[in-house]
Amino acid sequence: MRSLLAILTATTILVSPTLAAAATVLPLDRATILVSSPFDVKVEFDGVVAQADVSVTINGQPAADVLGKDVVFIEREDGVDASAVRINGVTINEPGAYTVVARGGGQEKTVTWEVYGTPDTPVARNVIFLIADGLSVAHRTAARIMSRGMTEGKADGRLNMDDLDRAAFIGTSSTESVATDSANTMSAYMSGHKTAVNALGVYADRTPDSLDDPKFETLAEALRRQTGKSIGIVTNSELQDATPAAVFAHTRRRADKAEINNQTYGVRPEVILGGGSAYFLPQSTPGSSRKDDIDHIALYREDGYTLATTKGELAAARGSNTGKVLGLFHTGNMDTTLDREFLRKGTVDRFPEQPGLVDMTRTALDLLSRNEEGFVLVVEAANVDKMSHPLDWDRAVVDTIEFDHAIGAALEFAEENPDTLIIVTGDHTHGVSIIGTVDDDKPGDDMRQKVGTYAAAGFPNYVDSDGDGYPDSVDVSRRLFLAANNGPDHYETFRPKLDGPFVPAIRNEDGKYVANEAYKDVPGAVFVQGNIPTSGDTGVHAIDDVVLQATGPGSEGFKGYLEQSDVYRVIAEALALGARQTQ
Ligand SMILES: [Zn+2]
Repeated sequence: MRSLLAILTATTILVSPTLAAAATVLPLDRATILVSSPFDVKVEFDGVVAQADVSVTINGQPAADVLGKDVVFIEREDGVDASAVRINGVTINEPGAYTVVARGGGQEKTVTWEVYGTPDTPVARNVIFLIADGLSVAHRTAARIMSRGMTEGKADGRLNMDDLDRAAFIGTSSTESVATDSANTMSAYMSGHKTAVNALGVYADRTPDSLDDPKFETLAEALRRQTGKSIGIVTNSELQDATPAAVFAHTRRRADKAEINNQTYGVRPEVILGGGSAYFLPQSTPGSSRKDDIDHIALYREDGYTLATTKGELAAARGSNTGKVLGLFHTGNMDTTLDREFLRKGTVDRFPEQPGLVDMTRTALDLLSRNEEGFVLVVEAANVDKMSHPLDWDRAVVDTIEFDHAIGAALEFAEENPDTLIIVTGDHTHGVSIIGTVDDDKPGDDMRQKVGTYAAAGFPNYVDSDGDGYPDSVDVSRRLFLAANNGPDHYETFRPKLDGPFVPAIRNEDGKYVANEAYKDVPGAVFVQGNIPTSGDTGVHAIDDVVLQATGPGSEGFKGYLEQSDVYRVIAEALALGARQTQ
């Protein structure tokens, strides 16, 4: 025992000098950077160091000479008792490997960035990037079976996404964790830089201020810098939510929604359709989530945008002279397709005229395609994730079907406009699988015994009699059974939640999430023991790869395994965003 302790002590002494004194360089090692795209550099030293000791070189030359920018030394950072170096707004105009060595106070850190160019000529004029938040393989399979049916083990029809030409597996881990959220993944798709959970368009630094972190260029900014293309954002979440925000925003904290909304106005996408009107309204207006008097709706109107707040107004906005439309259909997140079109639950009584994702996508394509220079449209189906968290599989799957119909609208557009690259993906997965069916006609009252697995599962009996691609009802007698491998304590009811979205767990007096007793008395409900910390109220994201699919010019770049940050490079190449001259 004593000798083991002695060895441990000796080891600690040996390794401690390097562990205790490590600088951090941002962008991180192995960062991939589009040629000529602006970004900020930061070196964080461990503790206070003397300026005279500090040096930053790039490929052996002083960083200031290579980057043509001042190197700013900060002896003590805000709220942190340590020194840092900042070099803001740099660009590197030659592709290649750039090795950065930062030294100071006896610390040394070496990172190498890969600066990549693109062809000078674009192969695609338009990009339609369709993302279903949280899209997992189970959602696709369930959407196919629920909407098209299955006979003798063969699908009776195909989803639009089933026929896209290319596919790749995408790794979604973040810079500080194997796990991920929508912010860092979509930010990587939209910039080529991997970052931390909750971060958008920035590397996460150590200071408390969420708006001072080192920035990198977003897709929206690259389009404005290099092209005359229009930009469209369509989502059924709040427009300030992480996925749509990642197209343009810079903040360490995705919850900075009022600030994100200010940044939307900075970029001013030509078409903006979704929820989240609360952040457009001045604080004096009921329903506002702002803490100032800025009226963003007035700002957009002055700038020539047509405002639409209902499905009818959206249809009318197709005739907009300027082609610029701001559609705000909900103060918060929009309702699911199941609630909007079938059950009239959720918040549909308060917002009865919400358009669906397909209407929004078609209108956006109509408006954006007026620009001869082309466009990039990002479409998010947010509720696949927002309903997978509370384990409400029917809502998540029906919204996956709607997402697939939006893909259909994009494919129709591409048929007329073959210079269009279509990308379909998720940003992370959920721990969900389809394991069989639930058959009400099996004998007895015990719902668990009605779960069919293996041969006993048979096939579900959804019907689509009107041919709209949706099952007439999700509440059929033999339903798909989806289950999550993680979640809070909850009651499994084995039935669709017809009264409104599922609320699996609620907070008790101790602040812990416990099973929602409201479902306890549903006949046959069983208690499911949670397996995540009791601070979690819903199921969590999975780290499993996401499947990305694509079709159209430039889609050949999607194959095998890619990090989510590599997706941007394929988009940049298709649009020649690294071209040496402005197109
Ligand atoms: Zn999520």
